[in-house]
Amino acid sequence: MILLPAHPQPKDNEILSSWMVRLAFANGLPLHTFYSAYLGYKEPIWSRDIDRHPSDGLLNVISRRSGQALEKLKSLTLSSYEGFLFERLPLTGNSPWIIPAGLFHRTRQRAGMQFCPLCLRDDVVPYYRRCWRLALYAMCEHHLCIMREYCPSCSTPVAFHRHGIGRGKDIPAGALRFCHRCDVDLSQTPPDHLFWSEARSFSRLVATIKSLEQPGSNLWHVFSPCGVPFFQGIRVLIGVINGRNGHGLRQQLGEIFGIKIGNDDPKKHFDFEGLGAKERLTLLLAVIWLTDDWPKRFLNLCSLAKFTRSRLAEDFRALPFWLACMADEYLDSRSYVLSSEEIIAAGYYLKNKQQTVTWQLLGVTLGLPRDSAKAAWQIWTSRNS
Ligand SMILES: [Zn+2]
Ligand SMILES: [Zn+2]
Repeated sequence: MILLPAHPQPKDNEILSSWMVRLAFANGLPLHTFYSAYLGYKEPIWSRDIDRHPSDGLLNVISRRSGQALEKLKSLTLSSYEGFLFERLPLTGNSPWIIPAGLFHRTRQRAGMQFCPLCLRDDVVPYYRRCWRLALYAMCEHHLCIMREYCPSCSTPVAFHRHGIGRGKDIPAGALRFCHRCDVDLSQTPPDHLFWSEARSFSRLVATIKSLEQPGSNLWHVFSPCGVPFFQGIRVLIGVINGRNGHGLRQQLGEIFGIKIGNDDPKKHFDFEGLGAKERLTLLLAVIWLTDDWPKRFLNLCSLAKFTRSRLAEDFRALPFWLACMADEYLDSRSYVLSSEEIIAAGYYLKNKQQTVTWQLLGVTLGLPRDSAKAAWQIWTSRNS
């Protein structure tokens, strides 16, 4: 098999689709001509999310003609996060942590790909990174700016595979730096930084984001031996805070950080992956802050917001063990289920046994954790003072 005249190497952490587009352009051909006529691959390519599960047929053709090993090509896809961010990347449907491409034929209806304008500016050859498809990657690990999802000029989602469509074969060098629709230079988008007052959670989130491409960071080792249960729990906590029962939590966090966290609009309780980068970033920072000094901060927040265990998950079994253990041990909801009558009855029971009703004794009698026992004792004293 003859190698292609030009076969650029994939850049650091480059995502498959970005490299495939560069490969075609480096050989001087528009995408469709290159893959269909030149390489002879007739199946649809760009109407699918090829960064998830590209077909073996496609990878074989590219591997043979570019000289890149099959394994190398697979490592450019999102399945390379398997066993770290999620167990298995599903073949179809939405996946945790992956921003859905929202494909509709070749036109992407919504952002699937993010970009950092400063990274694109620094690139000698502009290209798109694999981690830019991740909802977790809401901020650039190098420039610490909020990731962008749309062209600043025409508000179109990034779709570099549409370069050259309908405009002849004139493809500019470094095409991936430009908006495919209006030709604006995306690298000139002004960077946007979030003001976050708590330095430790900020640096912990940066470390977590960096660990995506350089696993080995042990931020989550206190929670779980590998990344999957940790990230699963982080996503549950985000969902709880941004969910329909999370109003109190959002309010308390907003007061702590002096910034709006999550969304109160019932129509906007999307999955985390469907939120804008800034909203994702504030939620991530808040949750990373909560996991520090675990579970103290989270329990304090739940207590302030009157948030109980039953609200932590619709399906309790879906919680990773580090969250389930905490909920089991500390987030008992019984004090909120117990009626005042039951508490008063327990108080009289103790009194009849010639015991002084203290919150500790009431807690032991009713099987309540500390905070709930104190709340129950307040109810008892208010009726017996
Ligand atoms: Zn950057
Ligand atoms: Zn544009």
